[in-house]
Amino acid sequence: MLGAGVLGSGLAFGSDGRVISSSARIVIVGAGAAGLALANRLDRSLDGARITIIDRRERHIYQPGLTLVATGAWPTGQVLDENARYMPRDVEWLKANVAEFDPDANCLFTDEGQRVDYDFLLIATGLHLDFAAIEGMSTELIGREGIGCVYDNPEHATRTWAMIDAFTAQGGVGLFTRGPGGIKCAGAPLKVTMLTEDLLQRRGRRGAAELVYNSPGKGLFSQPDINEFLKSHFPERGIGLNWSHRLKGLEAEARRATFATPEGDVRLDYDFIHVVPPMRAPDPLFNSPLAWQEGPFADDGRWLEVDRYTLRHPRYPNVFGAGDCVGTPIGKTAASVKAQVPVAAHNLLRVLAGREEDARYNGYTSCPLVTARGSAMLVEFDYELKMVPSFPVIDPMREQWLPWVMKDRLLQGAYNAMLRGRV
Ligand SMILES: Cc1cc2nc3c(=O)[nH]c(=O)nc-3n(C[C@H](O)[C@H](O)[C@H](O)COP(=O)(O)OP(=O)(O)OC[C@H]3O[C@@H](n4cnc5c(N)ncnc54)[C@H](O)[C@@H]3O)c2cc1C
Repeated sequence: MLGAGVLGSGLAFGSDGRVISSSARIVIVGAGAAGLALANRLDRSLDGARITIIDRRERHIYQPGLTLVATGAWPTGQVLDENARYMPRDVEWLKANVAEFDPDANCLFTDEGQRVDYDFLLIATGLHLDFAAIEGMSTELIGREGIGCVYDNPEHATRTWAMIDAFTAQGGVGLFTRGPGGIKCAGAPLKVTMLTEDLLQRRGRRGAAELVYNSPGKGLFSQPDINEFLKSHFPERGIGLNWSHRLKGLEAEARRATFATPEGDVRLDYDFIHVVPPMRAPDPLFNSPLAWQEGPFADDGRWLEVDRYTLRHPRYPNVFGAGDCVGTPIGKTAASVKAQVPVAAHNLLRVLAGREEDARYNGYTSCPLVTARGSAMLVEFDYELKMVPSFPVIDPMREQWLPWVMKDRLLQGAYNAMLRGRV
């Protein structure tokens, strides 16, 4: 995750490091990783501006830790935090959700019917987990009938751990899935698979279980070197691979899954299944003119339209975005948030100061690809899918102990510093 994120961005606060005087009304939608980091950076860089952040959620979840909760390495409480701890004092926190955007009128409406006008809008709503797109699936099933999902929240990650714990004791068939298209932390479904396999080995139960990873496409990971590594690593660990298998439906009580494949529907029985739903922009964004109207980011999720480098909306130039909601070729990790937020904040400040935006997001993303308890590969790459390692002692192509220690011990502190706009 936050690989280079640990090291800071190099971009100055404000425009050229100065505090800017402004009376602009700035609205940030979403108080997750990106929204809080934006609020803190802008609050420190502006004098006189009125900054409002809108999000009903008070609880903050350290989502990168959910993989460790779901596989028994961390207790649930370790990922729980409060947004209030990171909220800048001068920023107004409107505890509601946005129901509708009206960018032509420079305003939005909350789900309580309040109209909020703005001069500048920053969108950081994260994404929607589309469980309803899988027939027979609902979040109430997580933790029952052998169904797990690392994605939703700490309670569901904890129930997923109960399912994995039981499966590794009893054995049987374990199916692992991945939603098609853009998903947050695309490494997470792979990590859950490898950590389950590792647990079976540690418990001396590997022979009692058959594990199959079902990819909706023809690969396992977008970065080609890591993709090649995994395509041989999974079979070496006896993990079967099904290509072009998109999870379409579940019969929970029968423990049977239906996959759409190019040859037609395929039904597979399981004892444990890790469900990863398709993901898309949250409804208010999905249905707004701010979303991509055509092209790959419209078809796959109707994500927020932004210039992939400046993170500024090309059709509504007073709108910027950061985090999982933006439609860019790479992103959807906290590591990307770390790289995007300074760019979006800096470019907004440049525009406020009447200058051209000059910071560029290069697509940086990172994933400590945990292959077993105590071992991981720190994979960092950019829009060109080129590896951009931050730490000379860490070889991205090798399973090592140090990236595991980073994931297990260090990165949560770096994430919290990012929320405070400090790195
Ligand atoms: C299981 C898992 C493992 C992960 N592992 C890693 C990892 O190893 N490394 C890594 O870098 N990243 C990882 N991530 C991804 C990382 O957590 C996300 O990319 C990051 O949290 C995105 O930040 P965000 O601000 O865009 O979204 P979020 O942090 O999800 O915040 C979005 C906020 O927007 C709010 N919101 C939504 N709709 C509205 C609305 N209509 N009105 C107002 N507010 C709204 C929500 O309430 C929420 O508070 C992982 C994620 C998961 C789930």
